Parts: sequence; C-alpha cells; structure tokens
Amino acid sequence: MKETVEEQQDFVKDITKMSDDFDRWYTDVVRKAELADWSGVRGMMVVRPYGWAMWEAITRAFDDMIKESGHENWAFPLLIPRSYLMKEAEHVEGFAPEVAWVTRAGGDMEELEEPLAVRPTSETIIGALIKRYIQSHRDLPKLTNQWNSVVRWEMRSRLFLRSREFWWQEGHTFHASGQEAMEEAQLILGYYRSIAEDWLAVPVLSGKKTPAETFPGAVYTLTVEGLMRDGLALQMGTSHYFGQNFARAYDISFSNKDNERELCYSTSWGISTRLVGAIVMAHGDDSGLLVPPKVAPVQVVVVPIFRDDASRTKVEGFIDGWTRELKAAGIRHRVDWRDERPGDKYAHWELKGVPLRLNVGARDVDAGQVELVDRLSRERRAVPAAGIAARLQDELAAFQTRLFERAQKYLSDNTFELSTLDEVIAHFRERAGFVWAPWCGDAECEAKIKADTGGVTIRTIDSDEKASGKCLVCGKPAKYRVALAKAY
Ligand SMILES: [Zn+2]
Repeated sequence: MKETVEEQQDFVKDITKMSDDFDRWYTDVVRKAELADWSGVRGMMVVRPYGWAMWEAITRAFDDMIKESGHENWAFPLLIPRSYLMKEAEHVEGFAPEVAWVTRAGGDMEELEEPLAVRPTSETIIGALIKRYIQSHRDLPKLTNQWNSVVRWEMRSRLFLRSREFWWQEGHTFHASGQEAMEEAQLILGYYRSIAEDWLAVPVLSGKKTPAETFPGAVYTLTVEGLMRDGLALQMGTSHYFGQNFARAYDISFSNKDNERELCYSTSWGISTRLVGAIVMAHGDDSGLLVPPKVAPVQVVVVPIFRDDASRTKVEGFIDGWTRELKAAGIRHRVDWRDERPGDKYAHWELKGVPLRLNVGARDVDAGQVELVDRLSRERRAVPAAGIAARLQDELAAFQTRLFERAQKYLSDNTFELSTLDEVIAHFRERAGFVWAPWCGDAECEAKIKADTGGVTIRTIDSDEKASGKCLVCGKPAKYRVALAKAY
C-alpha cells in the first residue's frame, strides 16, 4: 500500500511543494490546472474553462437559493457617473483609492463632460435609480441581485484573490423596516455559510465585523471566514446592513400605511470568483487540486488502459456499456482517450483534483469490474460494473463529506484560545490559524493588535458566546469574544 501512495504522489511534477513556498505552490496549481492566467492587462485575469466551470457551479447553487426566497436578477450599467458615486460620503471615501475612471471616448478621444467610474460595486447607481421603482409600501420589499464583474484598481495582484477585475454577484435589497432588512442580511449570511460548507466543503466562522472592518457606508457587516492550508483566513462572503444610510443619501423613500413618507432600509451582499481560490487553498496538496464533488467540473474520469487495437476495442465496448448510466444519473464524467500514457493521464487528472478515477484494462473487462482510485485517500478498490452509477453517486457523496471533515479537523487543530496580547504576538511569530481572544471593543486596542503582530486582524465577533475576562490589550472588562487571524 505504501508503495502505491508514493508512486501516486510522484505522478504530478513541476509544482512547487506547498511546504516549501505556499504562494508559489498556489500560483503553480492555479496555472497548471488551467484555472486562470494573467492577461495582457496588468492585474486582470483570464478565467479559463476549468476554473469558470467551478464558478458556474457556485453561481447555479446560489442563484437557486436566492430565487427560492423571491429574489430577482437584473442588470445595471458598467459605468457610473461621478455625481452618483459622490453622494454617500463614507462609501466614496472607502472606494476612492480603487476606482478606475473613463474620461475620454470616441474616435478623437474627446474628453467627457462628466467622468464615469468603472463600477467597483453598484450601490450608488442602484441607489440613484431605484426610487423610480419604489413609491409605496406595496412596492417593498425589493429583492434584487446582479451577476457581473467589477473593477478595483488594486496595486498588488493575486489570481482569484486580488485582481483588478473579478466576477461576483451583488445583491441589493430594499425594505420597509430595519428589522426586515436585518433578517435579510442574516438570511444571506446563512446562504453563504451553506455555499462554503455544503458546496465547497470549507467550514467557516461567521459573525459581525468590527466597525473598522465594516463595509464603507454600512451600519454593520456580516462575514463568513474560512481557514486556508497555510493558516491564513480568507473572507469568503459578506452581507451588509445599511440601515437608512443609502436611502438618506439617495432619497429612496416610500409612503407607508399611514401615507407618510419614510426612508427605506437596505442591504447588499456578495460572493466572488475568490471562492475558486478558496477551493485551491483549502483543499489542495502537493499533487495539485482537490475539488469538492458538488462543484467539480469533472467528478469521475475514466482512464482506459490497452496495449493494441484488439484490447482497445474490448475496453471501449465495456466502457460504453455503463457510461450511459453515468450520464443518466447526472454524474459529470469524462473518458480520457487522449494519446498519452496512462501515468501521464493520472498525473493530469490528479493535478486537476478530479475526485474519482476509474482505471479500466482488459483484465478488468474480463472480471466485469473497474479499478476505482480516490483522490483523497488514494486507495484503489475493485468495483463491479453492475450498478456502477449508484455506487459512484454514493462514493461522491462520501468524498464530499470526508473532504469537509478533513477541513473541519484542520480548522479545529488550528484554532486556539489566548488571553493576552503577548501570547498572541508569540503565537503568530511561530504559527498561524484562528485565535479567539477577549476584546473591550475599543478601536485603539484593535489597532494595537494589528500593529504589534504585523497585520493580525479581528476577522469576526463571536455571535454565540459572550465574552469573559479582560481585553487582551488594555485589561478593561471584555465586551466581545473575537477571532484573530492573518488574512488574505
Ligand atoms: Zn481594550
């Protein structure tokens, strides 16, 4: 058994070892597994079909969730007039350093009367226009979403995690009461947790951000945060409650049941192609990707093994016999007939993280079976061809569960509880992960944590457990229990 494992790990070459250099390992995997690439435009990426197919699986899952609860998709312009952008002061201040502008257009490159921002997010243009569609309480709630890409002029780029253009969904909802809008923000947070945990097999911490980490213009921000295999946290989705802030800035009001004008309450929320990066960093290993079956573009790959035309015909007839069943069962599969050696094909699909591989040779045909190899355990098992579709469905479901459990164990093995800043500084000098600690709620103490640890931030406030003890920085009674981490 041991020998098999070593042989298997050796299939994939030319990837930096994760333990040697995580950043290079990440870039190697993203590019060699053909998820994404840099383009001719600095900081902007090309998402390749294999990476896009994962994003599509996420979009389908999330789109189903929001449709189920009555949300509708629509589309707003890519460009936003400067005057729209300038109305919500905090929002403008937050986004100003990252906005790209269109100032000239046409054959003579004539200067535009008003510069147009390439949307960094669409609160401002939706805020400026939504009042057309909201007059009375009968028009509420307005539950909307758009799938698009946005541009943020980042100075440092990283495929999927930080690129000047990324793809996402932005939900924008408008409500007659604050209570209802807060429930909406919470509902979406639950969806994001489900996308992370049930679909991507990444367990998350979820809760409120501190005021310093809140989205510009929001009353509060809710977040889901996962732990990557280098021990750094990744923000995987955020849901914002705006209260009446945007409604006040953009004059979005409605006549209530007593026929009085009242400002709306609103929310916005988003997940992005960064989640494809999360799949890589939360599950990958030295051989490459490990894709959760629910979002895997290829769930099962079949590798035929033959010596000559006669054995090829025999193997092909056998495979054709049951791949129809796989199709009927909705299993995303591919038979790899490329003109390559089996060992190279194994390496190719291991790198791409396909959960299950079936090796089929002439001897397997005689025995009426296939050899099943699992990307996670790397075990090889003989599986009868009879009833194979049902068997593979079970195997895929079990794979999804095992992947989640492995990630959950990693999360709990890398979550700690500390009570003083000195302990926290010492901890992050040696290792990473999440550290729970008590905090008084003061921004100065939060800033000191970040400064003294070289960038550790409060990722989320515990929504379940009350704080006990004293603030890790100032020693005053703690108000919150918070999760600290270094983050992407
Ligand atoms: Zn304090």
